[in-house]
Amino acid sequence: MEQILEAILAGASGDELAALPLPDHYRAAYVRREDQEMWAGVASKDKDPRTSLHVGDVPTPDLAPDEAYVAVMASSINFNTVWTSIFEPLSTFVFLDRFAKESAWARRHALDHQVVGSDAAGVVVRVGSAVRNWKPGDKVTVHCNYVDDQDPSSHDDSMLGANQRIWGFETNFGGLADLCVVKANQLMPKPAHLSWEEAAVNALCNSTSYRMLVSSNGAHMKQGDVVLVWGASGGIGGYAVQYVLNGGGTPVAVVSSERKVALMNDLGVAAVIDRRAEGYAFWRDEHTQDEGEWRRFGKKIRELVGEDPDIVFEHPGRSTMGASIFAAKRGGTVVTCAATAGYMVEFDNRHFWMKMKRLIGSHFANYAEAWAANRLIAQGRIQPLLSAVYPLDQTGEAAWQVHQNLHEGKIGVLALAPSEGLGIDDPERRAEIGEDRITVFRRHG
Ligand code: NDP
Repeated sequence: MEQILEAILAGASGDELAALPLPDHYRAAYVRREDQEMWAGVASKDKDPRTSLHVGDVPTPDLAPDEAYVAVMASSINFNTVWTSIFEPLSTFVFLDRFAKESAWARRHALDHQVVGSDAAGVVVRVGSAVRNWKPGDKVTVHCNYVDDQDPSSHDDSMLGANQRIWGFETNFGGLADLCVVKANQLMPKPAHLSWEEAAVNALCNSTSYRMLVSSNGAHMKQGDVVLVWGASGGIGGYAVQYVLNGGGTPVAVVSSERKVALMNDLGVAAVIDRRAEGYAFWRDEHTQDEGEWRRFGKKIRELVGEDPDIVFEHPGRSTMGASIFAAKRGGTVVTCAATAGYMVEFDNRHFWMKMKRLIGSHFANYAEAWAANRLIAQGRIQPLLSAVYPLDQTGEAAWQVHQNLHEGKIGVLALAPSEGLGIDDPERRAEIGEDRITVFRRHG
């Protein structure tokens, strides 16, 4: 990939890039099929991605007609890479094997290694014969909705497609690598005012938060809404609070340290709850929740903003769902996309039905939603959450940081980009938006 990188850094044209040979191997972060059982008997918290994520050369796959090769300048760590590397709740090789049954092209994915990563920013270096809207030389970010466009169920909301997958999690050839293979309908223009690593961290989490809060497929937030955001300084939470502020709502941010409270205040969020300092114990023991603690939590929200939340942005799952359903206002909405702390959730149904609340399940975003979310980044209305940067060779360490909740916002990973700060094509626009706004998470990282 050295020749391709040199050409990109020298500003080579698309034709020049397309004329360069592609290597038959490339550097990638991957997990191995033979390691699937390696964590048997180990507690989740102790499963260490630094052991299970390898970085080394893997063979370059062939390109299907509707696909593109992207030279990856930077990528990011998402929680799904943590799940893959600890083989929980199941080994993602199961997804690859299932996918392989669908078509000849899909069979490429069921290998003994899986290249992980569901975000990327880089440069298109080749396109398949059926690709119309993209060409070599295009600077892009990649969203991770991997859709079978010949499936009728994909054509209303593609997230409802029966075969919908998350690229780099339920497929192979993901973004934590020097090269990735994507469908053309995963490509979006790279925001020109951002560096490679700033551009790489947004697509997965930003699009997810957009669908959950803004889209009519999610909670469809209105001006004036009070929105409770769990994990507000984390990946999806950090975009969520920005959407609430932008949309004329009032965010109530939940975080777990003084440092994160300061970060929220810097971002413009006035109502912040430090859940550690408050010492909430929603579960009295493994089987029993404590309604008194839900009430104490609800009271705190009212003290801060004077009313109950119209919307609760939920993702911790088992640890918080009871409190989330309780705290939402009469007729309010809880929107959830995850279960970091356990997926068998419990809540008191009386608080749910008697107060006519709604619970919405949400998962990533369709192309239109991802595109709209990317456009808001390009317009400078939503800022990247980049807080730290690791080289590709230290992907395991970066994933460990996220697994142990030691990070804020998003961790970027440099793939081909030789250093941070490269790739800013529109410095004037950057100055207009403001360096301070763009780098708020970096300053607190
Ligand atoms: P992060 O780790 O960046 O942030 C999650 C935050 O949640 C943490 O920073 C922490 O904040 C908070 N948190 C963690 N555990 C608990 C708990 N037990 N109780 C309360 N708060 C908790 O992860 P992401 O934001 O990137 O992702 C969050 C979840 O959403 C993950 O499970 C991920 O897999 C999922 N996800 C799902 C998507 C989908 O499409 N369905 C897309 C993106 C993410 P603090 O300690 O400060 O309170």
